[in-house]
Amino acid sequence: MNGDTNYHDMELLDDSIVPEHAHEVKAEAREFAREHIEPKAEEYYRAGEYPHEILEAGQEANLVAQDIPEKWGGRGLDLPQLLALTEEFYRADAGIALTLQLASFGCEITYEYGTDEQCEEYIRPVAAGDQLSGLAVSEPETGSDLAGMQTRADKDGDEYVLNGEKYWIGNGVEADWVTVYARTGDDENNRYGNHSMFIVPTDTDGYEAEHIPEKMAMRASKQAHITFDDCRIPEENLIGHEGAGFMMLADFFNHGRVIVAGHGVGLAAAAIEEAWEFTHGREEFGRTINEFQAVQHGLSDMLIEFESARGLTWRACEKVHENQNAGYWAAMAKTKGTEAAVEISEQGMQFHGGRSILEERRIGRVFRDARIPVIYEGANEVQRNLIYKQAG
Ligand SMILES: Cc1cc2nc3c(=O)[nH]c(=O)nc-3n(C[C@H](O)[C@H](O)[C@H](O)COP(=O)(O)OP(=O)(O)OC[C@H]3O[C@@H](n4cnc5c(N)ncnc54)[C@H](O)[C@@H]3O)c2cc1C
Repeated sequence: MNGDTNYHDMELLDDSIVPEHAHEVKAEAREFAREHIEPKAEEYYRAGEYPHEILEAGQEANLVAQDIPEKWGGRGLDLPQLLALTEEFYRADAGIALTLQLASFGCEITYEYGTDEQCEEYIRPVAAGDQLSGLAVSEPETGSDLAGMQTRADKDGDEYVLNGEKYWIGNGVEADWVTVYARTGDDENNRYGNHSMFIVPTDTDGYEAEHIPEKMAMRASKQAHITFDDCRIPEENLIGHEGAGFMMLADFFNHGRVIVAGHGVGLAAAAIEEAWEFTHGREEFGRTINEFQAVQHGLSDMLIEFESARGLTWRACEKVHENQNAGYWAAMAKTKGTEAAVEISEQGMQFHGGRSILEERRIGRVFRDARIPVIYEGANEVQRNLIYKQAG
């Protein structure tokens, strides 16, 4: 790195920590991000629109929904491959990246626990890029207390009847179907056995979704408020068995949280690139500001924080991939990766001085976006609870 550095040359997301078998997809993701995501990031942020054209390009490039196993038409990308792709996409733009990743959100639950019939009908079209899915867990009254969710699914003959509300649901409006986490029991002595997972096509009577109000960050992704009003689905749409919803979700989140750590790592890389370039170009007191030792130390701290977060993220990826105390490692990586993005982008803002708050600046977009991964997929306080409980 030197004073002339263009951010493409910094190579923060270098290959050396990434397992060999993930190098190819990482290179594909980088090329795609440069061609399709980076040039459009600011435009989509300002417009707050769903990036349909980029999503389609991602589907055509076989970089969207490709965690889906080959048996169902996907590439069967594993966790390290998905993490490698994620870092690249989030470095380019978090809002667009979230939309690309949410195209198959929740599918893992069906292909892991569902029947072949369910996979044929619902998973295959998502892998082919013909349909979008979503995962509906959070509710207006709580996002953190998974065992306390109130949306109900009551059995009536050979159907389930859903009533309740979900909030913050990615693709709730755009998706063809969503995986819904709903209450099927009320046993207070078995709080973790009261919920089940269902496949709910979004054109079912009684399913209503509207976009939530405009956000200050990740504006190229869209979330919805969903209402279920006597929404009837056939009993075949239950995934796995009744009461297994919480455990399925816990397993799903172990993978998801490693990926969210990658959201943080990608954002942090973007913030460092911006800060590095700016501090090496901005002249004050007859020198560029990178010549001040305080600025050099700040940049060094950003790099230390970044490498610590990335190192932990890849270590956790390996642990989760091998199913070794997965919940613990996933929560550690999620916390560190996402908080590194907050801290690094905050320092990046400071180094930009007044220009930090100009709408056109990438650092401002990264700073706003970095506020989100510390919340979603479980707020970091909840991650710390999990780390403590599963340590030792
Ligand atoms: C952009 C975005 C996309 C999302 N996409 C989806 C999606 O596709 N599907 C979906 O189901 N959900 C989604 N979510 C919801 C997300 O998972 C929740 O926002 C998150 O779980 C936190 O829930 P909450 O917002 O209700 O906060 P609350 O549960 O109300 O928590 C608020 C705060 O209280 C504190 N807190 C809560 N519980 C504890 C505790 N046990 N210990 C210590 N402190 C605590 C924390 O500071 C926390 O941030 C999304 C959210 C966002 C912002």
